[in-house]
Amino acid sequence: MSLKDIVGQDRAVRLLHELISEDHAGGSYLFIGPRGVGKRTVSIEAAKAINCEKKGLDACEECVSCGKINSSNHPDVFIIQKEIGSSFIKIDKIRNIIYQAGMKPYEAGKKIFIITNAEDMNEESQNALLKILEEPRENQIFILTSSRISGILATVVSRCKTVKFNLLSQVQIQRFLVERRGFEESKAILFSHMALGSLGRAIAFKENDEIRERDKMLNDFFFKKRAIFREEVCDEKKYADLEESLGMLLSWYRDLLVSKFTEDKNIFLNVDRMEEIFSYSAGFSADKLEKDISSVMDTINHVRRNVNPKMALFNMALELWSLSGMKAGVSRAEY
Ligand SMILES: [Zn+2]
Repeated sequence: MSLKDIVGQDRAVRLLHELISEDHAGGSYLFIGPRGVGKRTVSIEAAKAINCEKKGLDACEECVSCGKINSSNHPDVFIIQKEIGSSFIKIDKIRNIIYQAGMKPYEAGKKIFIITNAEDMNEESQNALLKILEEPRENQIFILTSSRISGILATVVSRCKTVKFNLLSQVQIQRFLVERRGFEESKAILFSHMALGSLGRAIAFKENDEIRERDKMLNDFFFKKRAIFREEVCDEKKYADLEESLGMLLSWYRDLLVSKFTEDKNIFLNVDRMEEIFSYSAGFSADKLEKDISSVMDTINHVRRNVNPKMALFNMALELWSLSGMKAGVSRAEY
């Protein structure tokens, strides 16, 4: 692929094309925007376009340089990210960047350093980078990506040109999934609604079988609430990614609340279960649904803060249960 194939980030791509065409692509950039909207992909495509031997506006995909970047094998293009299981990008990686930045490009016109999720650098690493971000050499480009600008030191932000990335529309995501990834239409519709504007998230839904995870969560915490008294229901190990699964439960309660105000299908996320949403929402007041939403959100925050997940799930289940006024033996539809 190349920059022209990027979906939904026209403004960022236009800016990069302008910089490339005027041979002004240099210095330090901060790509800022939500997760899963293409910041990393655009960084790599920009690196290809800038160093492409054909010197066009975009990567040719045929030259040696494009091939090496595609296979993560280019000696002048560095992609720095946190290793799986670590909390931060290791300072050694940053020291290596600083060392490499002191050397001329081996092959390409420009040496390009891409630091993805730059907020994963701790303060020491960010401070170490400051000087080279401020005065990059003519043949160097730094691209930092981030979905959380609050995790980046103001001094770092101020040394970079900011490029904003947007959420994608549901239709853009749906079309991409069908046309480029060969998804079945029904799955593409569901995933594009659930993804809340993040293409990366929509793709992960398939890879991680997230819909099955959602259904597991709904069965345990919505449809069979009395089952909370069986210990295994609150066993966090059942979920591949507890935070993501709780996000799914949140989307469910959100849809129940939305159904109180509109029937416009475009506003809903769980579009595969619309009938159930309308049927169950009749049994809840808007007030109760708001409380349930708060309860799930609190649980997500607890999980993020490493509170004992079993206890957090149990407390959530009790709140979802006790606030409902539902009595044992009364089915959902009756209260
Ligand atoms: Zn090329």
